[in-house]
Amino acid sequence: MEKQSLNKVGIFGGSFNPLHLGHINSVISVAEKMSLEKVFVIPAYQNPNKDPVDGPSANERLKMAEIGFQPYLDFVEVVDVEIQRKGNSYTIDTLNMYAEHFNAEELHLIIGADAFYGFDRWKDYQEILKKCNLVVTSRPGMQLPFSQKDLPKGIQDFVAAFDRNYIELTTGRHIEFIRIEDVDASATDIRKKLRNGLRVEKFLSFEVENFIKENELYKPLDSRISDFRAFTMKVAESLWQKSCIGLRAFDLTDIEAPSEYTIICSGTSSKHVSSMANLLIQEIKNEYGVLPVGLEGLREGRWVLLDYGSLIIHVFYDYVRQEYGLENLWKEGKEIDLTKLKDK
Ligand code: ATP
Repeated sequence: MEKQSLNKVGIFGGSFNPLHLGHINSVISVAEKMSLEKVFVIPAYQNPNKDPVDGPSANERLKMAEIGFQPYLDFVEVVDVEIQRKGNSYTIDTLNMYAEHFNAEELHLIIGADAFYGFDRWKDYQEILKKCNLVVTSRPGMQLPFSQKDLPKGIQDFVAAFDRNYIELTTGRHIEFIRIEDVDASATDIRKKLRNGLRVEKFLSFEVENFIKENELYKPLDSRISDFRAFTMKVAESLWQKSCIGLRAFDLTDIEAPSEYTIICSGTSSKHVSSMANLLIQEIKNEYGVLPVGLEGLREGRWVLLDYGSLIIHVFYDYVRQEYGLENLWKEGKEIDLTKLKDK
């Protein structure tokens, strides 16, 4: 990076999977309200707090950011440092690089309110609070903090002075809260809509939407898994081999349900649950070349939900499974006979 003679710059990172109007609105609004001379938009290679899901490559996400910010290149620069670096994209590593070129006072890390509430789980967040200021924007469905006790625990220790929209930190830096116009877009929802063929023009720039369509970035998994009943049997067999308990599978094609097939099983500990799910994801990736389109609870191992479109898999810690009684939801569906599998 060239030495830059700029006074006030922003850094805006994200997975941008896909880049949506919420992201663009945030960058434009903050740049304007705070008179930033430049905002560096930095697509992550892999957000360490998110599990990898099926979809575009890192370079395709970079391309979406370049296309989406094309009209704003007078003050926006899309940077591929995290994509070049590969591996987990830690903000502290990126910030260390920028710290060589800018004084901490000039640097403003822009994040949405949702990201802010988990900020004290970021790697070396204490260091981040020394190396730059934070700008936290509103996001639909999230309240900005009213008082000091609403702040993430790890940030409370650094507060020197609290005023609703401005916090002075003991590190010499500050946090500013900025209300921006609500753009009710979330990448997770947009991915779902795209896969189900629903309209998304409200959430994406025209050019980004075109790029997604031309390159079929979010095509349903059916193009790679042709027979979901056979896939369900295969997954059931694989879970059985991993010593799961209480394995059941349901055909839901005749009832109103979020998927055509579903599997439920348990593990004997949260470790067993996470390891079964991790191994299963790997096996399916190797055999079918797909990752789940949605994935929840993998790290905690209490209730892991793997969404493969027409098949949704629930792997529970057995004792948590009793609490939910999910099977009742599918009693109108047809239970698939797995006895042959279990006799194997
Ligand atoms: P997901 O829905 O999968 O969590 P996302 O829509 O939050 O994804 P990211 O790429 O993770 O997209 O977000 C990058 C940054 O943009 C984060 O700081 C996030 O808080 C912020 N952001 C995302 N959507 C909005 C929005 N609609 N309004 C304001 N900020 C947003």
